[in-house]
Amino acid sequence: MKDIRDNCGVFGIYSNAPCALDIYDGIDFIQHRGQEYCGIATFDGHIRQVTHHGKVVTAFTDKEIQYLTGNWGIGHVSLWERQPMSWQSKLGDISVAFSGNVVNADELIRRMKEKGHAFYRGYNIEIIAKIVMEAEDVVSGLSEVARTIKGAYSLVTLTAEGVYAARDVFGFRPLILGRDEDRYVVCSESRAIQNMDMEVVRDVHPGEIVLINDRGFQSLKQLESPRKAHCAFEWAYTASIDSVIDGLPVQEARNNLGASLAQRDIEEGATGFDIVAPVPMSGIGHALGYHRRSGITYQEVFLYNRYADRSYTQSTQRARERMAKRKLSVLSSAARGKRIVLCDDSIVRGTQILNKVRELKKAGAKEVHVRIACPPLLYPCDFGVSTRSSEELAARHFFKTGDIGSLQKQRELEAWIAKEIGADSVKYNSISSFVKALGIPKNSLCLKCFDGVDPLL
Ligand code: SF4
Repeated sequence: MKDIRDNCGVFGIYSNAPCALDIYDGIDFIQHRGQEYCGIATFDGHIRQVTHHGKVVTAFTDKEIQYLTGNWGIGHVSLWERQPMSWQSKLGDISVAFSGNVVNADELIRRMKEKGHAFYRGYNIEIIAKIVMEAEDVVSGLSEVARTIKGAYSLVTLTAEGVYAARDVFGFRPLILGRDEDRYVVCSESRAIQNMDMEVVRDVHPGEIVLINDRGFQSLKQLESPRKAHCAFEWAYTASIDSVIDGLPVQEARNNLGASLAQRDIEEGATGFDIVAPVPMSGIGHALGYHRRSGITYQEVFLYNRYADRSYTQSTQRARERMAKRKLSVLSSAARGKRIVLCDDSIVRGTQILNKVRELKKAGAKEVHVRIACPPLLYPCDFGVSTRSSEELAARHFFKTGDIGSLQKQRELEAWIAKEIGADSVKYNSISSFVKALGIPKNSLCLKCFDGVDPLL
């Protein structure tokens, strides 16, 4: 529903049986992290690879799954590009897939071209793979990736020895290990592990390099981590609600964020609402948290059309709006005559929440009070979640320069946004209430899209 592009998702497995179908299942369970491209690579003495433009369940054929022989392999889903990418190198056949963003990509490509490297399209994954393949071994290569690359990555590397998994030293993007009697896996989100009836073992630590093979998980190296910077947006929007990211269940986080919004209304004496409703799907956890804290009846006011594509995959704004309309239709009888608290995770451009408020009012809602789990989005993301440019962020139209600064400024912004989208009121969680609701120390989080503070500096 958002004008936010998700990140990519990675999956890796070592099994005692052919693994292609497991990879297929694994990347299907993380499809929400990227819906344009998908790919699988397996190892059976050589790398076999198939990538597609499209979604996992519609893209892969039985014949392709049969072609992908071997007991270990990796998979990827993406909005941007086909991965994994595979090479023949002095380290042997190698295939790499990653989730994140290389901030200093242009500079690295320029330097590498000067050294004689050629690039297919200058993708981030090419930079990472070339750094790895220049090294004496994969662990040295992955250590060099951590030293050279500025940015965020969780990656899987397929080799003859097994699957290497690595996470950048800040731990921006999630990466988690799982197992059962026959299989060891690593994945961007725990939901794949849980839904494949496996045991979640632990998160890969920021800066850790793990090898997954017939000996299970081996932590081969722990690079120094200057600080953690877990993407706060994972809990509010990006991750699936049934995942656990760095020890914090996404559902619990969203409930707490909604409860925090309710608490503020209670403290400010904002009462008299009839129902609390989510903007599906990502607003559901927030609305439930609001409901539990306030005691106000939880009532759906939109019907979610599971057959419509996510709106951001459409290429034009008009197409996105049409798709958004197809995706959520108003339940008029639930909305009519009601004072509604409408919960959502964030406001990006503001066009979609404007349309939702308008549709509810058209359906006869008496009042619509918008409650937003995230603090105002004021800065674009450099670390793999595309909130694009500052100019496209609705809050930035109000605060042309500088950050939001104070709660007073936030109140002014809320009044302005409410007027812009035709709501009776708008309230966001402040940065401090957002962090408190997550229960993770502020200096272990990336909050750059809210406060502009770059964790890399
Ligand atoms: S800038 Fe925002 S979306 Fe990007 S990693 Fe940081 S918290 Fe996540």
